[in-house]
Amino acid sequence: MHALRIDARRLWDTMMTMGEIGATPGGGSRRLALSDEDRRARDRFCAWMREAGCTITVDQMGNIFARRRGRSEAAPPVMVGSHLDTVPTGGKFDGVFGVMAGVELVRTLNDHRVETEHPIEIVVWTNEEGSRFSPFTLGSMVFAGQVTLEFAHSRTEVTDPRSRLTVKDELARTGYLGPAPCRARPVACYFEAHNEQGPMLGEEGYELGVVTGSFSARYFIATIRGEAAHVGATPMERRRDALVGAARLVLEINRIGKSYGADGRSNAPQIELAPNVRGVIPCEVKLACDVRHSDVETMKRMETELRRTTAGLAEELGMEIALDQYYEFGPIRFHDGMIQLLRDAATRLGYRWRDILTVAGHDAVSMNALYPTAMIFVPSRAGGISHNEREHSTPEDLAAGTNVLLQAVLAKAEEGRA
Ligand SMILES: [Zn+2]
Repeated sequence: MHALRIDARRLWDTMMTMGEIGATPGGGSRRLALSDEDRRARDRFCAWMREAGCTITVDQMGNIFARRRGRSEAAPPVMVGSHLDTVPTGGKFDGVFGVMAGVELVRTLNDHRVETEHPIEIVVWTNEEGSRFSPFTLGSMVFAGQVTLEFAHSRTEVTDPRSRLTVKDELARTGYLGPAPCRARPVACYFEAHNEQGPMLGEEGYELGVVTGSFSARYFIATIRGEAAHVGATPMERRRDALVGAARLVLEINRIGKSYGADGRSNAPQIELAPNVRGVIPCEVKLACDVRHSDVETMKRMETELRRTTAGLAEELGMEIALDQYYEFGPIRFHDGMIQLLRDAATRLGYRWRDILTVAGHDAVSMNALYPTAMIFVPSRAGGISHNEREHSTPEDLAAGTNVLLQAVLAKAEEGRA
């Protein structure tokens, strides 16, 4: 086993350089998928990887694969990936870390002139966050065959319901509508590093989390239909105000999340309102919402309660409320051998680690359906806050995660050596 260590200082500098693209006043980053900022981040990544001797391939979804040659070019690559896009007021870490860990890993192998049997590919997946185009992890889902390329290409901006701009338009505009087919091919295994996005590791004094699987989650659009009417002339008891219905539903969703123990989660983070003008009682609201739990049966009970609550509210308020599922994931169990590899590497390098589940979706969830897959989490400092400009991990956190990743990638990339 190699005693290689990554260059923690260089990794940190690379992270900070990337964080300057789309830098926000509060110290975070704004790089919505396929925006000009995202394009600049992608260009920067490609330039770095070319300097490191990698060849770049871009597929029809704009997923970028930077390939470091193996001794056996016929051997399937070991993949390491994540995403460079952010939420509108995101932090500098999140998925960016998973990509920059890959950059640093390749640079370290180059520094030490390490050849591997398998090629190594560092991947940037398109539209992981789902803030600009929905659903999230779109690029990796097309690759994994979970949604069609046509479906993904035709998604329009969630950030602006009136916009007709599609994913395909923006891929073409930013120069990332690549020629390579976006579909699964032989891959040895897939690793993803990420920050925890929660407080557990940091507050319990762990330096790393080995992700063994995921929470279960279901995502819905609740459509509440009331009746448009004059905001002044309509007596209160005659109103069917869709926004009042939505407000009641938001409170119920919040209550449900709180009533299923520490692992219960529920959200209603996005709303569309019609006609959304000052003289008219709202007639239609679309509310994005979700329920999640570490235990799939409990998550299903949360969904049942959400449906029952929604039906009760509709009856009480005299409005129609439809609940349509648009996405689900979990429970995911990552690959046992890959999990063990990360645990062993973390132990050997002397880090304090624990097993952990991911509450959020990641590109690794798409990849887990096809290839041996695992994830490693580094602590999120600042109370575990994420999807916020204050998101923070320390240089030591990032180095720990990347060193463990390096060991695990090397072990897989040397498998089958003659
Ligand atoms: Zn992420």
